[in-house]
Amino acid sequence: MDYRHRWLNGQAMQLPLGKVVCVGRNYAEHARELNNPIPSEPLLFIKPATALASVLSPLVVPQQYGACHFETELAFLIGERLTAASPAEAARAIAGVGLGLDLTLRELQDHLKAEGHPWEKAKAFDNACPMTPFLTPAEAGPLEELNFMLEVNGRLRQQGRSELMLVPVAELLAYCSRFFTLMPGDVVLTGTPAGVGPVASGDQLTLFLNNALRLSTHVI
Ligand code: ZN
Repeated sequence: MDYRHRWLNGQAMQLPLGKVVCVGRNYAEHARELNNPIPSEPLLFIKPATALASVLSPLVVPQQYGACHFETELAFLIGERLTAASPAEAARAIAGVGLGLDLTLRELQDHLKAEGHPWEKAKAFDNACPMTPFLTPAEAGPLEELNFMLEVNGRLRQQGRSELMLVPVAELLAYCSRFFTLMPGDVVLTGTPAGVGPVASGDQLTLFLNNALRLSTHVI
């Protein structure tokens, strides 16, 4: 595995790789599109460091478990240890802001959900979390004014704004840190807006974050 956390200029960071804490159903429209109830508290799950991959490389998607969906999500790289942190402490601990794809084997996930089983096989597999390089918090701007988009083969498929999150960024990081200590190098993915769908071999995906980041990759 050759993934490293990187800045937008390509420079590798000193931060180690850690876990990826993911939030489910943090945008009301996405919860509705999958017929899920809107949770009263954040729904959390974890991808291991082995799920991390770079969007600068072609995406490798499992073929043998049915549809694999893209979920485009704002990603926050943690720079300081956080345990039961306040929202203000959590905001100060953000080292970088980027986008992650929460790749999801949707048919396998539906099967596991129906059985009452954990989701990990559908969400935590190798390369299940392609990441962009990170902007500094100063480059990214205010946490409540982040805009992002995904185009697939030139068509707009997902559009998100941090102001539409059910639980805003700093509160969300603080909430995660009540259950899992967040370590330097960990990443928190903050949920996907509506528009998720399957990827197919050869698809070209282009990710946009504010006016600062625009990156294309394709599916092998
Ligand atoms: Zn997700």
